[in-house]
Amino acid sequence: MANYWHEDIECMDLAEMKKLQSERLVKQVQHVYENVPYYRAKMDEKGVKPADIQSVDDLHKLPFLSKADLREAYPYGLLAKPLTECVRIQSTSGTTGKRVVAFYTQHDVDLWEDCVARAITAAGGTSDDVCQVAYGYGLFTGGAGLHGGSHKVGCLTLPMSSGNTERQIQFMRDLGSTILCCTPSYAAYIGETLHEMGLTPDDISLKAGIFGAEPWTEEMRRTIEKSLGIKAYDIYGLTETSGPGVAFECSEQTGMHINEDHFIPEIIDPETGEVLPEGSIGELVFTAVDKEAFPLLRYRTRDLCKLTRGKCSCGRTLIKMCKPMGRSDDMMIIRGVNVFPSQIETVLIEQGYAPNYLIEVDRRNNSDTLDISVEMSAEQFSDKMKDVQDKEKALAGAIKTMLGISPKVHLVSPKSITRSEGKAVRVIDKRKLHD
Ligand code: ADP
Ligand code: ZN
Repeated sequence: MANYWHEDIECMDLAEMKKLQSERLVKQVQHVYENVPYYRAKMDEKGVKPADIQSVDDLHKLPFLSKADLREAYPYGLLAKPLTECVRIQSTSGTTGKRVVAFYTQHDVDLWEDCVARAITAAGGTSDDVCQVAYGYGLFTGGAGLHGGSHKVGCLTLPMSSGNTERQIQFMRDLGSTILCCTPSYAAYIGETLHEMGLTPDDISLKAGIFGAEPWTEEMRRTIEKSLGIKAYDIYGLTETSGPGVAFECSEQTGMHINEDHFIPEIIDPETGEVLPEGSIGELVFTAVDKEAFPLLRYRTRDLCKLTRGKCSCGRTLIKMCKPMGRSDDMMIIRGVNVFPSQIETVLIEQGYAPNYLIEVDRRNNSDTLDISVEMSAEQFSDKMKDVQDKEKALAGAIKTMLGISPKVHLVSPKSITRSEGKAVRVIDKRKLHD
């Protein structure tokens, strides 16, 4: 069975990595210029010719691509290979609007699955493992990506897809799953269901989880790790760059190593587009240097993030990205203050609540309102009005300390907030509906 610890690449020194990236980038720019009229027009407009790109140091000269471009060019406008050479189409989940589609040649599918295989290997996966894939299958890349990676590592793969949670647990027990792959919100739901079925982590054989596709906090990680008795690893990616596996966590769990032999990252100022120095927080941009059918150059992810290069205890030299702090469009501006759902999640879990909550923002009498419904567990539940009010006040105070603005907290009865089997919807911004 192939070994997916790619030491030659994953531990490559920086100069060599830059050389490899540069060689691939030069070829890729040529390929895109010749085959994608949409991007060629952007380069021409900026006055950039393929010959101007000689190494990664010239990357900043290229024009950006955005989600709006993908929507405009939908469906075939960014395709760089004839459809007869393509073997797959996947699509985004459509979290923030109209879906976009991505195309893959067999080379692209292999590249993607290799990246995921590195991620599974970094989480300790080998051909001895039973890997339960509970991401949704279909056009969404989660299921297909982890499925393909699991095959490459040689794990015994259980293509469960998401949903039917009790059956997930039943199979987990009957077939001895050791690795669980799904969204973190679904992992939390599976953990909760396990306990409701009267079971404990001792009743299952899971040792690791590979969770991604949505933002999740360190507090959420600890909640999941405890409820399932596992080590939980983060994995990042987006359909536009192939899918999950662009970056993955190693045993150190302090950020995700980017597969930078395939995806060159940059951090830019989202307002000005200027490239920011390493360590700054800004918008993450990727250039896919080795993909054939859908090779996006300088694609703006809208994910806010930070890059750091340093020695990692796992031995990998691949640059690391921090957990994305959310998309630039997840950030809510409430009464002039920038608020991320993850900040609220952190406080809730610290205060002993489960990560079942819903944030509603509205505007009344020209002032923004922030309402947070938080579910009580059966033990926290009380039918004494005064008890509940005291708890709501305490929680609102803790959130105010974190955000600087006061929310209205509503503690709601156990099980009243819908659980997620895929990407959780945590925010309803009604101001957008009025606009
Ligand atoms: P959509 O943009 O419609 O949700 P995708 O399914 O392609 O489509 O999702 C990609 C997005 O999911 C990323 O841009 C990012 O915002 C989010 N994402 C993926 N993995 C993670 C992760 N590990 N942590 C935080 N956010 C993530
Ligand atoms: Zn590492």
